[in-house]
Amino acid sequence: MRILEIASEAVPFAKTGGLADVAGALPEALARLGCETTLVVPAYREALAKSLAIEPTDMVFDVPIGTRLLPARILRARLPDARAEVYLVANDHCFDRPTLYGGARDYADNAERFIFFSRAALELACRLGRRFDVIHCHDWQTGLVPAYRRLMFGDHAAVAAARTVMTVHNMAYQGLFWHWDMLLTGLDWKHFNWQEMEFHGQLNLLKTGIVFADAVTTVSPTYAREIQTAPGGCGLEGVLASRGDVLTGIVNGIDTTLWDPAADRHIPRPYSAADVDLGKYAARVALAARLGHPAPDARPLVAFVGRLVAQKGVDLLVEVMGRMAGTGRAHFMILGTGDPAVEEGLARVAAAFPGTVDLVIGFDEGLAHLVQAAADITLVPSVFEPCGLTQLYAFRYGAIPVVRSTGGLIDTVVDATPETIADGTATGFRFDACTAIALERALERALDAHADPEPWRALVRRVMRQDWSWDASGREYLRLFQRILAAPPAVVA
Ligand code: ADP
Repeated sequence: MRILEIASEAVPFAKTGGLADVAGALPEALARLGCETTLVVPAYREALAKSLAIEPTDMVFDVPIGTRLLPARILRARLPDARAEVYLVANDHCFDRPTLYGGARDYADNAERFIFFSRAALELACRLGRRFDVIHCHDWQTGLVPAYRRLMFGDHAAVAAARTVMTVHNMAYQGLFWHWDMLLTGLDWKHFNWQEMEFHGQLNLLKTGIVFADAVTTVSPTYAREIQTAPGGCGLEGVLASRGDVLTGIVNGIDTTLWDPAADRHIPRPYSAADVDLGKYAARVALAARLGHPAPDARPLVAFVGRLVAQKGVDLLVEVMGRMAGTGRAHFMILGTGDPAVEEGLARVAAAFPGTVDLVIGFDEGLAHLVQAAADITLVPSVFEPCGLTQLYAFRYGAIPVVRSTGGLIDTVVDATPETIADGTATGFRFDACTAIALERALERALDAHADPEPWRALVRRVMRQDWSWDASGREYLRLFQRILAAPPAVVA
């Protein structure tokens, strides 16, 4: 099967969140299953600045955007040990910028940038001299691809028979733009209607993808249910429910070659479930040194790694740390970047409890690995969470997750109750209400459990031995692709 994966970020080229982890690992997982996979990503400044083996090709073509032509230069990456083929779409005007999508405010021309990218990816597919079976799109940045395939590229042999799959990684980001950006797409205004591309007077690129794709997926079964009702659907619950027959949830895997405590260049001493105590102690020493502490703290280390935005429940965290840091029960370590107001709230707590609350503002891949290795407990108090990768990395590094019961966190973390502890299925601590008190109680349960070393060690070893690799999820995607190839293409209303 020939699969074209199109994503706006992918490890190791560029990353702002979990999408990049997925888009980096899934093509390889599918290739391991025997598929011929091609990944297309933008050639951001960040990607070109890394010392990756990226080389030019002779493919250069113009992409019509509104009344202009924007040139696309195609680069090719040759990563060691990679089975999937990777192309990067370069255009300095669109992608030679300091960040991927903007800073505190999105770039004003994000519609143009990703309309260009979506159309260029399909133009590229038509120049590769083969026929694709499946085109797999991720998030709003590629939402136009299913519409383009159907309305503009239907006669191009390379993609004429291809089925399109739209994967939603987060319903909160829909690619909403003012209606005049419709002109940039080159598609007929007749598609700017409430059943296709329009949403309350605006152009909605994620909705476009959901409507035009042959199948829609999201990143966990629970989130697939949540988004078909308010508030999970963020306004698109009706559209998603209308596509309920082709909507499925597939939990993300993790790249076990990049996230492996037994072979991780970001941690000082490799470890496995057998010698987790030694590995974690070494990581604690390294983390303390990195943070300027003379020695590691003997208290349990409670960590948070993630985007500092309201979705991640950081306000609950601020409140709980404000109350718990004074008790001296735990040491907190926060790594993240995001909303300046959220960052300020955290900075105030960190300043109030030096030596108990450590805060690093910034995006630091290596430090994220070190923190997971050093942590005893990893917090994921999200208001909503499509899948969540942090808790899966926590498992692998022997940190026990404390998570809110929402979306993929429900599907991946088994709450420690007397029954699940007794039958050996517990993997973490969950809380239901989206309140600081509920988080605090769950964290206290975890800290109480931590105080009993033998059962805790058994829990840590058990969670580390779970298999959250892409093997199972890759097979689920493959089965879905096989199913839609066997069925006639979906018909747009
Ligand atoms: P989301 O995609 O909503 O950001 P996920 O849990 O699915 O959440 O994925 C988050 C990914 O981004 C993880 O790989 C996490 O380690 C990483 N990450 C988030 N913030 C940072 C940061 N400040 N520094 C390093 N890695 C980060």
